[in-house]
Amino acid sequence: MICKECNEIEVIKIYKKEHVKFKCKNGHEWYEHYIDQGGIHQRPKSYKVKIEDILFPSEKALYKKVLREISKNPSFYTSSNPTEIVQHLINNCKLDKEKIYKLFKKITLYNEKKISIE
Ligand SMILES: [Zn+2]
Repeated sequence: MICKECNEIEVIKIYKKEHVKFKCKNGHEWYEHYIDQGGIHQRPKSYKVKIEDILFPSEKALYKKVLREISKNPSFYTSSNPTEIVQHLINNCKLDKEKIYKLFKKITLYNEKKISIE
């Protein structure tokens, strides 16, 4: 997928009842139709937005790395506070601090349902 306005390839796709919504990392948004509306998109089984749906491809890759890391050492992650966890990920897994913080913020907003998907 690519943004027609800025050629950005980091794009998220959200299935809404009315249409499919796209958003590029630079904030451009556009809509496309489902097959029954004359478009090319299959309707999903559910319109529930999962955390993976709102992560850009690079964030999704980072999220997978974090999950993999957590699965290696689950007791550390359940007994540590968020600051310790972030520090651990940065130091031991060589993950980018700024990107980790941004990802965690997005996950927190999602969990608190404060993220706008309208
Ligand atoms: Zn764009």
